[in-house]
Amino acid sequence: ILHLYNDDGVEVDKDGKPVQKNVDLIRLMSLAKPELPLILFATFCLFVTSGSQMLAPLFFGKVVDSAKKGMDELNRTVLTLFIIYVFGAVFSLARSWLFTLAGQRVVARLRKRLFLSIIKQDVAFFDTNRTGELCNRLSSDTQVLQNAVTVNISMLSRYLLQMIGSLILMFTLNAKLTGVLLAVVPIVSICAVQYGMFMKKLSKQFQDRLGEAGTEAEESLSSIRTVRTFSAENKACDIYNKYIDKSYNVGKKLAAAGGIFEGGVGILVSGAITLVLWYGGKLVHENYADPTKGITPGILTAFLLYTLQVAMAFALMSSLYGDFMRAVGASIRVFDLLDKKPEVYCENGERLVDFDGCIEYKNVDFTYPSRPETQVVKNVNLTVEPGQMVALVGPSGGGKSTLVNLLERFYDPDSGSIYLGGVNLKDLDPKWFRQCMSMVSQEPTLFACSIKDNIAYGKNATLDEIIAVAKEANAHEFISTFEDGYDTLVGERGVRLSGGQKQRVAIARALIMDPKILLLDEATSALDAESEHLVQEAIDRAMKGRTIIVIAHRLSTVRDASKVVVIDKGQIVEVGTHDELLCANGVYKKLVLRQLTAGNIVEKLI
Ligand code: ADP
Repeated sequence: ILHLYNDDGVEVDKDGKPVQKNVDLIRLMSLAKPELPLILFATFCLFVTSGSQMLAPLFFGKVVDSAKKGMDELNRTVLTLFIIYVFGAVFSLARSWLFTLAGQRVVARLRKRLFLSIIKQDVAFFDTNRTGELCNRLSSDTQVLQNAVTVNISMLSRYLLQMIGSLILMFTLNAKLTGVLLAVVPIVSICAVQYGMFMKKLSKQFQDRLGEAGTEAEESLSSIRTVRTFSAENKACDIYNKYIDKSYNVGKKLAAAGGIFEGGVGILVSGAITLVLWYGGKLVHENYADPTKGITPGILTAFLLYTLQVAMAFALMSSLYGDFMRAVGASIRVFDLLDKKPEVYCENGERLVDFDGCIEYKNVDFTYPSRPETQVVKNVNLTVEPGQMVALVGPSGGGKSTLVNLLERFYDPDSGSIYLGGVNLKDLDPKWFRQCMSMVSQEPTLFACSIKDNIAYGKNATLDEIIAVAKEANAHEFISTFEDGYDTLVGERGVRLSGGQKQRVAIARALIMDPKILLLDEATSALDAESEHLVQEAIDRAMKGRTIIVIAHRLSTVRDASKVVVIDKGQIVEVGTHDELLCANGVYKKLVLRQLTAGNIVEKLI
């Protein structure tokens, strides 16, 4: 589960106390380590640029004063100034390019690592974290970091250096004037720090609200058919608008705060500049009266330009500081995810050589981590011999799918164990055993790629292999009618295929793995008769020679099953063949009769 944060973006524990995390700052910086050569070179360019910028005012002053000394002097000074500018511009170009490049590299690497970390999380993790939110982390939180560890740090040091450099140069030009200017620094600093903290808090809130809006949008757009069916476009818009309005409300404050700060600093700075001008003017006036006293107009010009530079550096530093703090906040969220180790994993797991397909559940108890109050599987003991077909039946919500989920090791049982070929699932290599079993569900999810790539999703396969399994799955015929054949794109989640076609592609996808175990979730929703026949034929063919666990809804399936297991409220209540259970006159018979009287799948049951 992810960490908690207060409104200031500070991580807090359960009682709301801040958690100390100084390491994050260092870790944030360490992201840029692989780009160090690039960053160092970019920083060098940066300093050359600032150097040229710092020299410029000095030459401005000289130009003003050299006018008095004649055209030669003026030309020379202007030319020098121009060369300094060009020099600065060239290095500025290199600086901007290299820093952006380094930032892009950092973010690209970080995104790859983060995605890897997310996709490896336990299935339980995805029960509690919404996809929209996770995608937001991948795109937005990492983006915030892009500049922080590269250009922002360098810019901060540049402005700091530029400010100190300018101040020193100003002192050498005239100490008294510098003193006048420095008088406003404490006031501006206090304002800037306050403003920085306020902005950090606001922008954290802004990001959060935006994240919520993104999550809502993702949900509505990815379920567009449901939205359309219920004509719920306006409702979806209302929900989205509500979150955008919330973010806008924070954005309004951000805008106002930015404006007030800029205006305030502007007033203070122009006050200081006016003061410097007045006092500087007085000194120039003295200089006219007595050249040994006061300062020349050129010196005043240079001084004023330095004043502007200091003021600008100051304003930029405070905004960079805000960005940097925001990045620290975002990095904590990113690192949380990067550090989160899945609990359901197995290093150096065993791979069985002659696995026969034997499955055993022993005293299995299970509760979903996202619903700790309800135990979903209670003391389940079940053995499926190699090549057997076991049909799970029972009321909806009884725990049939959960048993299958446990076999795929999407979750680990709270107690008890599941064995494959006599070895505990926890000691087996998940990659290996997941390849040994394929799942065909009622609502298969296809990916937005070609049919070919969908079928070969679990394994690199040749086109011949793909066609062979497609034929087996009764899919080859309809695929061949498509203009692009196996290269036909199926659209998001396979929307461009019919339900029956999707299922047959999913069966082919399962078959290409040549699984020892086939897990089937029979469709309850009726396909049209023709489709249904083709799907059923494909499934029947796929079942041959494999160990099968099927969540059964059809009479023909339960009739053929080696064993029918009735599951209710997480427990196995009856086991036997279809005929045995009918004779037993128990839950199973009631279930069959109820389905008959409800008119549900009647034609299949009689
Ligand atoms: P069946 O397949 O028999 O219809 P399930 O195994 O799907 O039943 O569900 C059993 C119980 O577990 C239900 O009460 C269901 O609400 C709950 N459940 C299923 N999946 C989850 C999940 N991911 N998180 C929390 N509870 C779940």
